[in-house]
Amino acid sequence: MGPVQIVASAVAAVATVIAIALLVRAVARMVTVIRLGQPAPERFAGKGRRTATTAREVLGHTRMLKWTLVGAAHWFVMVAFGALVLTLIEAYGETVDPHFALPLIGHWGAYGLAMELIAALAGIGIAILIVIRLLNRPARPRPGRLSRFTGSNMWQAYYVEWTIVGIVLCVFTIRGFKQAAGDLPYPVWAAPISHAVGAGFSGVPASAARVGITVTALVKILISMAWFVVIALNVTMGVAWHRFTAFPNIFFKRSGSAAPALGALRPMMSGGKPLDFEEADPDKDLFGVATVEQFTWKGLLDFTTCTECGRCQSQCPAWNTGKPLSPKLLVLSLRDHAYAKAPYLLAGGDGGKARAAAVTEAKRPLVGDAESGGVIDPDVLWSCTTCGACVEQCPVDIEHVDHIVDMRRYQVLIESNFPSEAGVMLRNLENKGNPWGAPPNTREDWTKGLGFEVPRVTDGGDYEYLFWVGCAGAFEDRAKKTTRAVATLLHEAGVSFAILGQGETCTGDPARRLGNEFVYQMLAQQNVSTLNEVGARKIVATCPHCFNTIANEYGQLGGDFEVVHHTQLLAHLVSSGKLTPVQPVDGGVTYHDPCYLGRHNRVFAPPREVLGAASDTVTEMPRFAERSFCCGAGGARMWMEERIGKRINVERVEEALATGVQTVAVSCPFCLTMLGDGVTGKKAMGEASTDVEVVDVASVLLRAVKP
Ligand code: SF4
Ligand code: SF4
Repeated sequence: MGPVQIVASAVAAVATVIAIALLVRAVARMVTVIRLGQPAPERFAGKGRRTATTAREVLGHTRMLKWTLVGAAHWFVMVAFGALVLTLIEAYGETVDPHFALPLIGHWGAYGLAMELIAALAGIGIAILIVIRLLNRPARPRPGRLSRFTGSNMWQAYYVEWTIVGIVLCVFTIRGFKQAAGDLPYPVWAAPISHAVGAGFSGVPASAARVGITVTALVKILISMAWFVVIALNVTMGVAWHRFTAFPNIFFKRSGSAAPALGALRPMMSGGKPLDFEEADPDKDLFGVATVEQFTWKGLLDFTTCTECGRCQSQCPAWNTGKPLSPKLLVLSLRDHAYAKAPYLLAGGDGGKARAAAVTEAKRPLVGDAESGGVIDPDVLWSCTTCGACVEQCPVDIEHVDHIVDMRRYQVLIESNFPSEAGVMLRNLENKGNPWGAPPNTREDWTKGLGFEVPRVTDGGDYEYLFWVGCAGAFEDRAKKTTRAVATLLHEAGVSFAILGQGETCTGDPARRLGNEFVYQMLAQQNVSTLNEVGARKIVATCPHCFNTIANEYGQLGGDFEVVHHTQLLAHLVSSGKLTPVQPVDGGVTYHDPCYLGRHNRVFAPPREVLGAASDTVTEMPRFAERSFCCGAGGARMWMEERIGKRINVERVEEALATGVQTVAVSCPFCLTMLGDGVTGKKAMGEASTDVEVVDVASVLLRAVKP
């Protein structure tokens, strides 16, 4: 061992010891902070399924590849992060002896080729990611909200990216020096790039090339150890830490399967058990989330894992219409607050023992305006439509909607702090069983003048489907047309169905999404009991919110029903020849996916199949299916004023009008209202043709079946 090797190996050893010590300390701190969260025992159920899901999502990059180019580039970088550890081990050997090769495989051509390919593809991958980040940086040419990286810590991402570039360059430089010294054990086919780099060192004497190997190996080790030191000193550096935390975050995701945390909301939990309002003790039990440590440990792991990629932000309807909510910034705020407050909590809440900064952080309300130093501004909390676009896009399975609703629950149930307009809706639900406050005895008025008798379950006859009409379908004029169209089509197709009539009450969806679990449970229990009493098994619903609640949430209260959306049933009736469109609707049609039918329940094809049969031309909007853009009404936003930014429905209507079609088809009564209002406004301003109309898929089909 010459003097260069002695110095290099000593420096490498010292750097490694420091880096590992800091890293161990950082991991311990991170685990301690995450353990501050509430228990979530359900996350340990189905370990085999969870392991398979994690393997599939990580190795198959199933979520990352929703953005194909970024996903592919990231896959190569991820593989290299693991595989190139072998070249790091080599580097340690090379600081001692430039001839070092890994035992058994080090001289093997296949190993040489594998590392060559992995390093090269990682180099290409990281170059693509760097270019994409630069093109989308929050300065020019994509300023402000157009950039998904707005609010991300850019230096951290650049640092991670250039570290990978440095590692890849070191791999090829070391191999190039080996080739120049005549020590590279691989033929040209196994290491073409290394041979080419070696050709560039052709004039370098063998002894100097071997010094080059040792020095470059040291540089490689120092780059790697510096990376560990930097991330150890920045435990909130999600863009780096997700390389480790993404695995448990995916493993412990809510469903444990490929499905994201959409559809049903997570029940209200306290101490790891569903909260029972009959027995709940306000002094002991949690009513939603009031402080950051009242999220579960999985919530804190979610916040830790955020990579700051901004995919969620790029899809969020609130962010894209100028509102203060960005799901990414919300997660980052919660993460930074949790880690800043943790020393105070770990000191047992003793202000005397914790650092002053932690005590100050602990005094911040979780939800509060700027004046009160709130972590999450109320305008952020109440801007969410629970559309699920963020959850759908998140590559590491963060569960934004559950976290947002948990914070809302505390604000509504304990603080009574929510937009006052929504209070009217809640009162209407409690007093009249519908959000409009319509007299319950008018629930069946939509049946008048149909030309056939709509059967009630109370009539006692046999029926296949219980037709769940919903409050909008029973009381809202535009939605009533959909209800009548569906009933007519079912009648025409000879489907036996019956309605509950006045036995129906609101499913409770708006109350639950607002955060009022108490009102939700009251309504839901009433409906579950009614449905069980009448022996309902197959239910058809026109409202995706009713559909979602009955299908996915009533099971939490003992109601297990087979629920279909009317577009699914109509698609079946068309394909089986029971309904035959005879005259296609002309003027062109576009289809708007409702969030609670599409993203939350994956019903994308049936409405399109119906429209395909009923119209000559179906044109997609730029944002459709999984990436559809919310109408603005979900999450009880239907009953709140939209005071900030551009109206979400106007943004969506502009997209629909740009397709140039005459018919904007929807399959949700709230979308019908929101987009209908948007088009009416555009017509009034002379920005939309008077021929354009917003109608339900069922109405389109009815026109084609009975022109
Ligand atoms: S659910 Fe929709 S509105 Fe709410 S934060 Fe996510 S993307 Fe934004
Ligand atoms: S929450 Fe998910 S999608 Fe949003 S920035 Fe973080 S990792 Fe990306």
